[in-house]
Amino acid sequence: MAAQRDYYQVLGVAETAATDEIKKAFRRLAKQHHPDRNPNNPQAAERFKEINEAHDVLSDAEKRKKYDQLRRYGAFAGPGGFGGGGAGARRGRGGPQDSAEFDISDLGGLGDIFSSIFGRRGAGREAEPEETETEVTIPFRVAALGGTVPITLAMPEVCPTCGGTGAAKGATVSTCPECKGRGTVSFGQGGFAVNRPCPVCRGKGTVPSQRCPTCQGSGELRVEKRINVEIPAGVEEAARLRLKNQGPKGRGDLIVQIHIAPDRFFRREGLDLIGVVPINLAQALLGSRIKVKTLDDKRVVLRIPPGTQHGQKFRIPGHGIEKNGRRGDMYVESHVTLPEKLSAEEQEAVKSFAEKAGLKY
Ligand SMILES: [Zn+2]
Ligand SMILES: [Zn+2]
Repeated sequence: MAAQRDYYQVLGVAETAATDEIKKAFRRLAKQHHPDRNPNNPQAAERFKEINEAHDVLSDAEKRKKYDQLRRYGAFAGPGGFGGGGAGARRGRGGPQDSAEFDISDLGGLGDIFSSIFGRRGAGREAEPEETETEVTIPFRVAALGGTVPITLAMPEVCPTCGGTGAAKGATVSTCPECKGRGTVSFGQGGFAVNRPCPVCRGKGTVPSQRCPTCQGSGELRVEKRINVEIPAGVEEAARLRLKNQGPKGRGDLIVQIHIAPDRFFRREGLDLIGVVPINLAQALLGSRIKVKTLDDKRVVLRIPPGTQHGQKFRIPGHGIEKNGRRGDMYVESHVTLPEKLSAEEQEAVKSFAEKAGLKY
């Protein structure tokens, strides 16, 4: 896919460049590539237009801010990614036929392109989905305690070059010959027909004489979008979180379904946490003091009484999950582990114990 050139690269300035620096770079480059100095050189003419376009956006604080926001979403991935490549390096464009695409007098309309990207304009004829769903698996601890989980999604965004129309600059737009402007075509026969979006105009009802070079006429670009999902403490398995206006093209909502990875130590029962602690035979018989870690990594000393059974639960109040002002408890479940092999001496000791305790074996 042809990439929209990066305005900072066009002017050969850093993304942190001050307005003065931008103006200086623009003046130097504009002089160098001015059509008067490069007669009959379509490449220079195109370069000159690019320089003007970049300057028009970057020298205007408001436009630059919007551009920077889009740039972070990867909409203008230049050669070598952000900040990479040299000034003027381009990809996927060039050649005399391209030089007609940019009209300097039209640059004032950039604001409109940006506003349509940010959803202040109508969505056009296409029916937009109200919401998009995705799933994420989060660690047990994040689910219990809450936190932020970053997710990366490839999502369609409105093409910044054509503002979603799919038309190249200066192209004429005419009624789609396939659907005659209806935007839908019907399939099927014998009294059974299904309407589907027209494959030629993608439901728009119109086709441009020349397609937008950035999006190849689709009106949208898939960009990698990184979204931080705020996980509320105590979120349940299969919970669905709604992120307002984080869906495709910044309009619909994004639904994130949560899955919780199991933990090595803890499991959940409502707001209570159950942690399994292994204890040995002597600890179970004679009692002991054991250190256990709570979910938030605090150490608690737990007294195990003599005669503790396998599977017995001990409550540590207030160390469960906190949700909506309520707080669960933590339980420690003892798992008695037995030695697998005894030496002759140990066997004698156990036999002598069994006889004293009246245990048959
Ligand atoms: Zn486009
Ligand atoms: Zn059509």
